Amino acid sequence: MTTDGTTTAGAAGTTPRDGLPTLAVYKLASCDGCQLTLLNCEDELLALAGQVRIGYFPEATRAVLPGPYDLALVEGSVTTAADAERVREIRAASRHLVAIGACATAGGIQALRNFADVAEFRAAVYARPEQIDALAGSTPVSDHVKVDFELRGCPVDRGQLLEVVTAFLAGRKPGIPDHSVCFACKRRGTVCVTVAHGTPCLGPVTHAGCGALCPAYGRGCYGCFGPSADAAPDKLIPLLRRDGMDDRAVERFLRTFTAAAFESLRAGGTATGGAREKRPSGDAREQKRDRKQKQRKEAAS
Ligand code: SF4
Ligand code: SF4
Repeated sequence: MTTDGTTTAGAAGTTPRDGLPTLAVYKLASCDGCQLTLLNCEDELLALAGQVRIGYFPEATRAVLPGPYDLALVEGSVTTAADAERVREIRAASRHLVAIGACATAGGIQALRNFADVAEFRAAVYARPEQIDALAGSTPVSDHVKVDFELRGCPVDRGQLLEVVTAFLAGRKPGIPDHSVCFACKRRGTVCVTVAHGTPCLGPVTHAGCGALCPAYGRGCYGCFGPSADAAPDKLIPLLRRDGMDDRAVERFLRTFTAAAFESLRAGGTATGGAREKRPSGDAREQKRDRKQKQRKEAAS
């Protein structure tokens, strides 16, 4: 039984009679926004509905077909021991598994906990903290099981989502570019907000997929698609400082939608934000730097 009260791998329901591939949509720790992107496909959804059998999709239907399913879309990150067990069950019940959204591919906003003491928060917020089941970190699906494809975004882009579903159903590789938002700005003819106006922007290190939406409206990108394939955030940081950001502001800028992903890259890890090591907070880093400066001064005198 899942946390939303339904069976995971299709113990109930009827066998598809028409030979169509089966699609399952699951949710872990998330806001449902990526699943809603699928439901928001409207016209395309009707065409898609004619190509697949929905095997499991509690947000859309109570009907459940028996698994295994041909394609599983998984939204959300792993934040509890039950999530970790469930994602293994999902993997076992799926021929192909695609992680959708910043939560599933990088731990999401909730990965901010990876930089804090969860037990301390639990004690401060809940009257009975011992009843709260929460892991110390929020981690992407790929930290727990094999993932066949990761689709970025918070939420995912509807055109890209349809492309991924269509590609898997057709047995081909999804045509999803992995370059940065800067490329998308150039392609749509958007003037660079950093060069022209000194606006801090994460476009150079952020995965494309939104069509460079924010710069098109004169705002900097704040990285909701997570790091691009060749992202080098450390190289961008001097530019952010030049444009008025102090260390704390830079840290907060990098820890938004994919809270752990940019930090993971900076620590030599992967772009998925799976690193769960506790890094010092901005204040702690500042204290460490001050201590080092003091030691240097003492050594020099
Ligand atoms: S990636 Fe964003 S929109 Fe999607 S479930 Fe997570 S918080 Fe919601
Ligand atoms: S924050 Fe960046 S990736 Fe997200 S919609 Fe804006 S420009 Fe696109």
